[in-house]
Amino acid sequence: MKVLVANLGSTSFKYRLFEVEDDAVEFLSKGGYERVTDYQSCIKDALRKLVESEVISTVDDIEAVGFKTVLGHQLTGCVVADESVIDDLMQGAELAPAHNPPYAEGIRLFARETPKAQLVALFETAFYQWAKPESRRYAVPQSWFGAGVKRNGFHGASHKHIAERSAELLGRDDIARRVKLLYRGEELQAVEDTPLRVVSCHLGGSSSVTGILNGVAIDTSMGLSPQSGLPQNNRVGDLDAMAVTFVMKKLGLSLEQIEKELTKSSGLLGISGMSNDVRDIEEAAASGSEEAQIALDVLVYSIRHYVGAYAFQMGGLDAIVFTAGIGENSSYIRQKVCEGLEGFGLTFDSTKNDEICASEACISAENSRIKVFVIPADEELVVARETYLLASQQLSAVGNS
Ligand code: AMP
Repeated sequence: MKVLVANLGSTSFKYRLFEVEDDAVEFLSKGGYERVTDYQSCIKDALRKLVESEVISTVDDIEAVGFKTVLGHQLTGCVVADESVIDDLMQGAELAPAHNPPYAEGIRLFARETPKAQLVALFETAFYQWAKPESRRYAVPQSWFGAGVKRNGFHGASHKHIAERSAELLGRDDIARRVKLLYRGEELQAVEDTPLRVVSCHLGGSSSVTGILNGVAIDTSMGLSPQSGLPQNNRVGDLDAMAVTFVMKKLGLSLEQIEKELTKSSGLLGISGMSNDVRDIEEAAASGSEEAQIALDVLVYSIRHYVGAYAFQMGGLDAIVFTAGIGENSSYIRQKVCEGLEGFGLTFDSTKNDEICASEACISAENSRIKVFVIPADEELVVARETYLLASQQLSAVGNS
């Protein structure tokens, strides 16, 4: 089955086309557009290019389109992307303004441009369905909880990929299989062997840390919105809620100004005062900038804070995984996160760490009880697989009726 994965940002549209057959996923083609103001012409152009380059013979060859939707108002999981999903995304748009409206529009446009394809939405929150209520509840009045103030979690497709791949690397095929079956609506399979405890660090322009016990997320650093947890590139991360009213009074900022500053000029950019990109910040820190150094130190401290918390909640730790732009490329951040942990059973291999770049590797010492891996992010693979599964079910249901 040819599955197109559509990635829609506030000003971008990227796509990847795969041939999927059960567990086998073959990459066929990809493309993208930046500074998008008109999604429809980009989608039409992408489909035209796929036909012209003979990757497909007609648009109808695309049997399914998968969307990595961010936050539903009520919905989560992997669902058929119909009008009810579009409505739900728009209702949830206040907390994900950069992502929900483009996905709502994208689903509507693909329904028009690829009318034969099954459309599937895989929510980024889906991976947290099994986390315990106490990890998802904030200590707010019940009326706030009723209005939807709870920990949602994000980057679900990325952390799910890490859950599966790390289990494979650790020789735990039982757990890898458990992860594979997660969204198929079946009961979680029992784990008969010893528990597998992994902390996945997705560190990129947007970052989160997730504790994964036996392939299932127990908690994650992002909360109600993707603005919480680790310091992000230009977004705040964790903050005492009272800071908002304090700054309103102290600096005379309006709610709109505060919202803008927390989402556009905070995070690594806010602390360093010079860039939202770890490459620039590392360079400036190496040249003696104290602000750049403290930005890196805050990031590392925050990552270690979450890794430690989840290891404790899971009763131990078997592996730490680094993924995404910073996780795959910054040997400095990986080194600092893993430093001085010999007493916990982690011996880091700095030579291996310095050697690898954006490829899969184990960077802990041979004798380290806790393993450390770098695993390249592959969210599209997860979306393609889940889209294939749901689309196949839909097609066979139609065939049987
Ligand atoms: P992503 O959102 O996963 O594409 O990650 C993008 C971010 O990765 C950039 O904003 C940089 O901060 C970071 N990054 C990319 N390459 C490097 C590198 N070689 N060293 C440090 N950070 C990097």
